[in-house]
Parts: sequence; structure tokens; C-alpha cells
Amino acid sequence: MNTLSSSTPAPDELRSALDDHRTRLPGRFGLAVGGAVRDPQRWKDTVDPATGEPLATVASATPEEVDAAVVTARAAAAQWAERPPGERGAVLRRLGALVRRDAEVLARLETRDTGKPLTQGRADIAAAARYFEFYGSVVEGFLGDSVPLGPGSLAVVERLPHGVTGHVVPWNYPAQITARSVGAALAVGNAAVVKPADEAPLVALAYARLAREAGIPDGVLNVLPGGAEAGSALVAHRDVDHVSFTGSVATGRVVAAACADRGRPALLELGGKSAHLVLEGADLGRAAPVIARALLLHAGQTCTAGTRVVVHESLHADLVAALVPFFTAATIGPGLGDPTVGPVVSAPQAERVRGFVDRAEREGAVVAAQTPMAATGGGYFVPPVLFDQVAQTAELFSQEVFGPVLAVTPVSSDAEAIDAAHNSDYGLTAAVWCTDIDRALRTARSLDVGQSYVNGYAPGGGVELPFGGTRDSGYGREKGVEALREYSRTRTLFVDIASH
Ligand code: NAD
Repeated sequence: MNTLSSSTPAPDELRSALDDHRTRLPGRFGLAVGGAVRDPQRWKDTVDPATGEPLATVASATPEEVDAAVVTARAAAAQWAERPPGERGAVLRRLGALVRRDAEVLARLETRDTGKPLTQGRADIAAAARYFEFYGSVVEGFLGDSVPLGPGSLAVVERLPHGVTGHVVPWNYPAQITARSVGAALAVGNAAVVKPADEAPLVALAYARLAREAGIPDGVLNVLPGGAEAGSALVAHRDVDHVSFTGSVATGRVVAAACADRGRPALLELGGKSAHLVLEGADLGRAAPVIARALLLHAGQTCTAGTRVVVHESLHADLVAALVPFFTAATIGPGLGDPTVGPVVSAPQAERVRGFVDRAEREGAVVAAQTPMAATGGGYFVPPVLFDQVAQTAELFSQEVFGPVLAVTPVSSDAEAIDAAHNSDYGLTAAVWCTDIDRALRTARSLDVGQSYVNGYAPGGGVELPFGGTRDSGYGREKGVEALREYSRTRTLFVDIASH
């Protein structure tokens, strides 16, 4: 076993390798358990999506190693839970400050790990710092209740941590998703075991190193990269009290079943097929750039990506004309060069997206614009496509692509737009564009989604806004103060008071 400082490459050791997407990262990234870095039973090379070449040598946890991490977390949980919220909060705010101190290295790590443009990597790290700072702050005002039942009694509702929380993180936004769920879980006093996706585990491992520097006690934050085997060992572990999962619907159901089998709560964030409803009276000059950006962000691999545009027929041609330049002018390339769009995360993901594009064309959708592709070496690049005249019965209209593909569909009324928006099993987010604010609000409030936007689009909302879906998009809420409720439970203390 090595100490964290000697075995996970430090920011200074990584800095020069992160300037060039052709450089493999030095050192090896082991398992972060109990405040130390442990050599795993097996190593795996991750791949740089911009080149298809090996990026880093990273641990791939076995079920036995997951079990050992849960035991370690359990041993650390009680003491951490007993620390006053003000102390836990101060430590988390310090972690946020350390994330800001190392922001450039972390942003470049995230960019090389996931493929996203550097500007987006930087934005993700800034948001991650905010999560630690936000939860480190609001937890001090996260109070229990007393319930007035009359002079003969005292009823107090306490807020307690679950104990050990398991966090299964996907590859698209690992820096943000790890920070948001770990920030809330640790703030209320849980000890966490995090399993990042094996495609993109590096920033979560970097958090473990920073957590120790911030003063988070050993064992309170444990990070074990790995694949499905490690994930399923974590969610099925009898000593994990709460599981948060972000990823696909299919895996989410397996995770929920494993938790149900043990009678433990799960939070599922499973993506979406979010729609923009562009109604008569929409300001297209305002809507078009936001719609394009919300789709192209991280090459469409965003759970909240607005991937469908349901537009009133009177505005249809003008809106498509306004969207085309965003697709033709977009640039594609390695994330470190900060293009509009980087590669998608992996070869299978690129294949999946190309499959959707081919089938959409066969189903009669019209290509209104496609970003020109320059030579991009061995990376997993997929050119963004703007599809027009997408039928409401088409696969592209209801299925999540997780790639840079936008579907435009004309409709003839607000009612048809609302029906169309609901014509998908997902219910994560939606946006309504209309300058008649009454009409916009009526429409926005009729949508069965977790977040509904008017004349704007906030993918994922802010740090402060409760976030999660309905139907196949999952259940439970991340973000905002709401997440502190999610990661805690109540205990009611009732006292019968004698009258004299
Ligand atoms: P996935 O759901 O298989 O993986 C997500 C996470 O779950 C990863 O950490 C993975 O290792 C882990 N995992 C896999 N099998 C598991 C199991 N049986 N038990 C516990 N954990 C397990 O997703 P994917 O294969 O990486 O991507 C497939 C599709 O999922 C994408 O194309 C996209 O549509 C969707 N997706 C959605 C989100 C989102 O933010 N909602 C994120 C990533 C992927």
C-alpha cells in the first residue's frame, strides 16, 4: 500500500502531460480507499477519446476490493456523522477551494478523460467546486423540526445520515456528478464509496487526494474505478445504506432491483429526450443559439440535452434556417484545442450514434445541416447533424441518442406540441419558447418533467435547483437543498410530558 501522495500522480507531475493530447499520463492511478492509494488486483488502460490511444493506467476494482472499501467506509461513518455540521461544512468548503486551486489541471484531466472541449471541462470544474462549497454552506442551515402537538408532549424530528452511501457515476460528467452527489452525502454525515465509470475515472480519483488535504477523515471518501462488476458489487452490498446511480435506463433498473432486493433506497438519474417547444410568438433570435448550444454541449452526451425541437408550423422554416449556421460553423477536434464539439467517449458510443443517424435517414428525416469533418486521426468523432421533418413515430423522436443529433418536428398547435413532448418514455427537462408569458407558463406547467424552462435553457439547472426526472428518467432528486433530504433520513423523538 502506498500513501496517496506517492502513488496517484500529483498535479505538478501531470501538468505537462495534460498540454498535449498525444501524451500518455505518467504514473498509475490506484484505488483510493481509507485515505490511501492501494495497488489493485488488476490494472486497466483508459483510452483518450481524441486519439483512441491509451491515456492512463487505472485500477479496475474487483468485488472483493469493493467489499473492503465498504467495510472501511462503515468504520469511518459514525465519527464523521457525529461531527457538527459546521465542522463538516468547513472541510467541504476547503475541498471546494482546493478544487479551485487545481482547477486547470482538473479541467484538462476531465477534458482528456471524457473528450469534451476544454472550456466545458473548465466549466465543469467550476461547478464541481460550487457543489462542495454550496453543500458545505447550506448544511449549516439544514435543520430538523419540532412538531407542536400540545403542552403534553415534545416531538422533535432529527435529520440523520443514512450511513454508507454508494455512488455509481457515468462517463459523461464525472467531475460534476461526483461532486454533486458526494458533496450532499458527506455534508449530512455519510461516508461514501464512489464507483466512477471505467471510461473516465481520473477526476474522481483526484478528489480523493484533495479530500485528504482538505481534512476529510480517512475512510469517509473512497473512490474505486471499475466496470459493471464493481458497480453491481457496490449496489448489492448488504452494508450500503443508500445508492445514487446516474446512467442508462437498463442499468438503472438493474441497480434499483438490487437495492429493492435488500430493501434499501436508490436514487436514479437516467437521462432524457428533452424537447424545446417553440410556440407561435417565440423569439427565434433568442431561441436558436440556445437550442444549438444545448444540443452541441459535450457532443450531445448530456442527459439534459435538448434533442428535439417541436416547432409551430408558422415558425418552422425560419427556425431551421436559424439553426443551420450553428451546425455548419461548428468545429470538431480534440478537446484540448477547444473546438465546438469534441469526440464522443468511446468507439461503441460513436457506433451507437452513427446507427441512429443512418436509421433516421432511412426513416425519412431530412438532413438540414451536417458539420463538416476534418481529418481527425483515430479519435471517436461524430459530426453533428440537424435533422428536419422528423416524424413523431420515428425512433429519433423518442429514443435517447447521447450524441450530437437534433430532431426538428413541425406541429400545428400548442396542444399538439405538448402531446409530442410527452411522446417519449423520458421526463427529465423541457423548454418552452414564447414571448406571450401566460401562454408560455401554462405550457411549461403542463409538462411532465423534473425541470421546465421558459425562454431559456439551463442544462441540468444550477447547483441550487433540485434535479431529477419523471417516468424513465428516474426518481429521487440531486442538487439543491433537496439533495440533503435525499441523502438523509429522519428520526422522530417523542417525549410524553406529565402535567405536574
Ligand atoms: P451504463 O448505465 O451502463 O453505465 C453507467 C454507470 O453504471 C457506469 O459507472 C457503469 O460502470 C455502471 N454499471 C454498469 N453496469 C452496472 C451494474 N450492473 N450495476 C451497477 N453499476 C453498473 O451506461 P453506459 O453503457 O456507459 O452508456 C450507455 C448509455 O447510457 C448511453 O448511450 C446513454 O444513453 C446512457 N447514459 C446516460 C447518462 C446520464 O447522464 N443519464 C450517462 C451515461 C450514459
